[in-house]
Amino acid sequence: MTETTHHRICPLCEACCGLEITVKDGQVAQVRGHAQDPFSQGYICPKAVALKDLHNDPDRLRTPLIKRNGQHVRATWDEAFAEIARRLQALQAEQGRHAVAVAVGNPVAHKYGLMSYFPKLARALGTRNVFSASSLDQVPKQLSCGLMFGHWMSVPLPDISRSQLLIVLGANPLASNGSMWTVPDFKGKARALQARGGRLVVIDPRRTETAAVADAYHAIRPGADVFLLAAMVNTLLAHGWVRLGAVADWVQGVAEVQQAVAAFTPEAVAERCGMTADSIVGLTRELAHTERAALYARMGTCTQSFGTLASWLVDVLNVLTGHLDTPGGVMFAKAPAFASNTQGQSGSGRGIATGRHHARVSGAPEVMGELPITCLAEEIETAGVDQIRALITVATNPVLSAPNGPRLAQALESLDFMVSIDIYLNETTRHADVILPGLSPLQDDHYDLSFAQLSWRNNARYSSPVLPPDERPAEWQILHKLAAIAQGQAPDVDVNALDDAQFAQDTQRLFAGCVRGPARPATPAGGGFAQRPLWGCLWAKARRLDPGQSHGRQRRH
Ligand code: SF4
Repeated sequence: MTETTHHRICPLCEACCGLEITVKDGQVAQVRGHAQDPFSQGYICPKAVALKDLHNDPDRLRTPLIKRNGQHVRATWDEAFAEIARRLQALQAEQGRHAVAVAVGNPVAHKYGLMSYFPKLARALGTRNVFSASSLDQVPKQLSCGLMFGHWMSVPLPDISRSQLLIVLGANPLASNGSMWTVPDFKGKARALQARGGRLVVIDPRRTETAAVADAYHAIRPGADVFLLAAMVNTLLAHGWVRLGAVADWVQGVAEVQQAVAAFTPEAVAERCGMTADSIVGLTRELAHTERAALYARMGTCTQSFGTLASWLVDVLNVLTGHLDTPGGVMFAKAPAFASNTQGQSGSGRGIATGRHHARVSGAPEVMGELPITCLAEEIETAGVDQIRALITVATNPVLSAPNGPRLAQALESLDFMVSIDIYLNETTRHADVILPGLSPLQDDHYDLSFAQLSWRNNARYSSPVLPPDERPAEWQILHKLAAIAQGQAPDVDVNALDDAQFAQDTQRLFAGCVRGPARPATPAGGGFAQRPLWGCLWAKARRLDPGQSHGRQRRH
């Protein structure tokens, strides 16, 4: 009997817990928390154990499927790519590039192969119809951070291990272990805060799991966050409680903010918020007068009217109370690599741009290069120039996760062609004409490109594959081949040769003129999926070229 122990980052949610996985005779025998992981320190939730079930699940797809006469049947990879080339290229020629949409889901953020190569597909398609799950619940926060701090991923995070006060608004980190804040074992960290005399305060319409362990809970009417936040800013300014602290030299426009919130006194908003004016003043006083304090808000503030304004006011409050970029306040994670917010000189970026194009039917502006996924159904249904007639989905199930799933399902059924990269036949992929399955998470290596930028502690952790991969393309190779097909190449194009050629071009472009070594590329403008820096691709490439890795990515297709 052979028994091996593997350390693997859990890819199932943003908490990025370190796992210790025991493999006996090629089978996963045990999944538990990795006690020596410096980031998660042994914490896991019950979902991690399901990685074993997911790997062994007979329903997990292992070969491509093609829909023939309404039924999905198994196909070879060559057959699947040939079908895609035949139908996608014809549709592009007839209907134009915007007729092909692409939608990506959360797993893309957890898989560097998908994250690194999706931009190639988006660029190759040349479509403005790019959708992702982000538009459901986090774009307002990313937009406000982009406008305020210069990049979509420059998100201030509570320094919970040094805080004396944490105010949580519209979030439930005890259940989620953080959202846009990677904080495994939030419960343990909240307990530690309370044990050192600190306070946890929750504001939420629902008495959440986090509220249940809080020192104070304020019920607020749904949709009233923006009024509460404006009144708190008003109170700060009216009482002279503003202190800018370490960021004073960077702050502009306080007088304009004061003017903007002048009408939003605690008394004026109390009824709308379902809170007393005294409690609003008291909350503001506590935030202003606690030396190490942080205000954290998440999904609830983003899934209501004025979500961007509410998200911005959260950080206005952190700035005006001197808690931005200070120990125990809210701070920026410093990812070791691939993060735009750790490149170049402070204040030297070009910032973000939005509204460069709009949804055809609703007129909604793009943000991060994406349109709201709630617009997808109507963009398929509504006839006219640039109507969506084909869709490529990448690890997403919007029929289940987006609003009005039945309407979207009906719209998907009306498409001329649909391709899905997914490991399951599900509510969304069942409408696809071709399904291309990636590897099981345990067969893939792992590095978090995104979450190192959102982590409660700076960290760099890489996991090798736990189990050897099957003989099939890696997900980055699938995306790269789809990109080649979208640009008119034959389905049997050698994707590795293509990658080598593009890699040579990219390095030449990025590092031209370097004598002593590669320089970092300039911080990109925009920075959405289609504009992400190339560092991720370089990383994926480096992994593929590393002969020393165990079960590494190989040329398999
Ligand atoms: S909380 Fe940790 S163990 Fe649970 S799903 Fe998220 S990353 Fe995995």
